[in-house]
Amino acid sequence: MDKSPLQDFAAAIASGKVRIVDLTFTLSPDFPVIVLPPEVGQAMPMRIQRISRYDDAGPGWYWNNITLCEHTGTHFDAPIHWHTGKDLPNNAVDTLPPQDMIAPACVIDCSVEAGKDADFLLTVPIVEAWEAKHGRIPERHWVLLRTDWSKKNFRDYANLKEDGAHTPGPNAEVMRWLVHERGIIGFGTETIGTDWGQAFHLDPPLPAHHYLHGAGRYGLQCLCNLDQLPPTGAMIVSAPLKIENGSGSPLRVLALVSH
Ligand code: MN
Repeated sequence: MDKSPLQDFAAAIASGKVRIVDLTFTLSPDFPVIVLPPEVGQAMPMRIQRISRYDDAGPGWYWNNITLCEHTGTHFDAPIHWHTGKDLPNNAVDTLPPQDMIAPACVIDCSVEAGKDADFLLTVPIVEAWEAKHGRIPERHWVLLRTDWSKKNFRDYANLKEDGAHTPGPNAEVMRWLVHERGIIGFGTETIGTDWGQAFHLDPPLPAHHYLHGAGRYGLQCLCNLDQLPPTGAMIVSAPLKIENGSGSPLRVLALVSH
């Protein structure tokens, strides 16, 4: 009897031929949230409130109430998150197509550059140099920017100064190019947002959000363990919570890597 691709897949996972890499930070009240200019609304850090833990409030069970921003911890950005994507069809986490929740990834390693310069900017020539080595970025692939930023302690992770955050990210041209010349399904980072820390000063401001969501594409941020992924060939599983009309959601992001 011929095996179905899914039977082969199950066997590959069972045998370790396909390895699962967890790209997710632990959700905790300490995990930094993005800080916006003070005149606009702010994200709330996660809250955990104990209901019971094998005590009078619940003698045999442990559980918590949690409060989350849609953009807390390792999380997914849907097109409705940005004004450029607000009128697109199926643009919220409860309506986006489930087949978009599994897609391959290209990983661009800029960890050395970002280690030297917190304001490192990803540009088109850098991605073209990556393509010269690894091939053209195919359509409907994630592009994940490896910076090793996820290895920092929480204070250095947000890296807030008087003039805002200083964290690596993409410039405007490369985001327009990745979305419109390469047709990527989304862009993922190890930092607190898909955009550069100082991206309010770019044109358009916050270009990753602007171009991705305007074209119905997605964002992933606060990823970790990107150093365990090959430049090409990993499959990303990223299924956000089905929040009614949700703009994004914390989620578990898994990469499937073939040995
Ligand atoms: Mn977000």
